[in-house]
Amino acid sequence: MRNSPAASSTFVPYAESLFAGARMTSTKSNRAAWLEGPSATCLPSAEAAHPWRLILLGAPGVGKGTQADLLRQRLGACHLSTGDVFRAAASSTGCGPSPAMIAALDFMRRGALVPDATVWEMVRERTACLRCRGGFILDGFPRTLGQAESLKKLMEDERLSLDAVVNYELPLSEIVERLSGRRTCEKCKAVYHVTRQPSQTAGVCDRCGVPLFQREDDRPESVTVRMEAYQRSTAPLIEFYRKLGVLLPIEATGSPNDICTRTIAALQQTPVRAVS
Ligand code: AMP
Repeated sequence: MRNSPAASSTFVPYAESLFAGARMTSTKSNRAAWLEGPSATCLPSAEAAHPWRLILLGAPGVGKGTQADLLRQRLGACHLSTGDVFRAAASSTGCGPSPAMIAALDFMRRGALVPDATVWEMVRERTACLRCRGGFILDGFPRTLGQAESLKKLMEDERLSLDAVVNYELPLSEIVERLSGRRTCEKCKAVYHVTRQPSQTAGVCDRCGVPLFQREDDRPESVTVRMEAYQRSTAPLIEFYRKLGVLLPIEATGSPNDICTRTIAALQQTPVRAVS
């Protein structure tokens, strides 16, 4: 974090080569260590010219997951979503989930936030993913001030710098419309929208050919609960990161590619920090 004592690295001006280098070394990370935990190993990832370390903020449905995937392709950093870890645990056919994970999944189905202790335990045991030489794009974490404080401390201890916290902004009415039309592929996790970004065959994934589903927490009753949780717990993070000097507000209107291009352009204007 820029203002933190442990992350006392110097700022260097932005260089286009960092972006070009990241693109050239970009690989499709399989995220095994993130999704399955420390017992799994990822395919080796190419060393990025600059390991981008970003946090994506924004209300549920604003398109953080889509942007994380597009940014992953452009910057080469791994897309780390805490929601994906919970969903992977829910659909896991391996040994049964722990009691804490069973309770977490119940919170998730209702659209409520999983308790900080459970989320933090899950992230902490995946610290290697934060240290990864490919960098990271955190999506859906942190979501409370407690989680943000814990992450800040961990990054200071690990001497990892944070490049930016991208905050995607969109009016509430549009967010609700996006959420209710969102459909996801069970297999590859590709995200579609029934009108904005439909699959070629209605209800079927273009990549895998398997049926698309509506996430339980995208149903109207859960959406209301999620919006309340966002306003109460996550919106205060905007001020937290603004004070640290790393907040990058981005208007989340237009196509996913437009938004991604806007994000990259804003990152290009941001001073890039040399890694501690
Ligand atoms: P997402 O896919 O990020 O919208 O997450 C789906 C659900 O997983 C959320 O509605 C929460 O129930 C749970 N979840 C994911 N990440 C977190 C987090 N950082 N803190 C608390 N709950 C989380």
